[in-house]
Amino acid sequence: MPIDPDFPKNYQVIGKIQHADGEHFHFMWGPGKLKEAAENEEVKAAYTARGEEIVPLGVSGTMVAIDWDSCVADGACIEACPVQVFQWYRTEHDVPATEATKQTWAGTGKDVKDERKDFTDKADPIREHDCIWCMACVSVCPPQAVKVDQAALEFHEKADGTFNESLSKGSAPPPHAH
Ligand code: SF4
Repeated sequence: MPIDPDFPKNYQVIGKIQHADGEHFHFMWGPGKLKEAAENEEVKAAYTARGEEIVPLGVSGTMVAIDWDSCVADGACIEACPVQVFQWYRTEHDVPATEATKQTWAGTGKDVKDERKDFTDKADPIREHDCIWCMACVSVCPPQAVKVDQAALEFHEKADGTFNESLSKGSAPPPHAH
């Protein structure tokens, strides 16, 4: 199932992926639901190899949005982008995707199609703010997990005004080491 084009209305903000520059960040929208990634053999095998469970993750980014439940770590978006908006998140912090909002990201992860950590990795729009709206990443994604919409800035700004980060982090379940 492609990314829900109305995800900012049908989902809510569940966290922030914070850039280390202290200025930039993008939102995670959830709660998400199991989609293509949960059915993809390469993805399933990679999760099994790590002993991690496939769980709903939601959408990373607002103006440049990747449905992480659809993303099968193909990397076509990463290859297509002329300004390196994306990185493989696991090549910077190798944590479960559910913990991406608990890290600070310098944007030092790999931005080459085949340099994913493994097929549990996800393309993350860490430089969403650099997007030039060329739309190259949208059509190349096999499961159509990408939505780019400059007008979604409205939802980003609205969420920025209302999202209570400390409340969100305080209510998040503690990470489990298993
Ligand atoms: S629309 Fe173009 S510039 Fe923006 S993330 Fe996609 S490929 Fe990169």
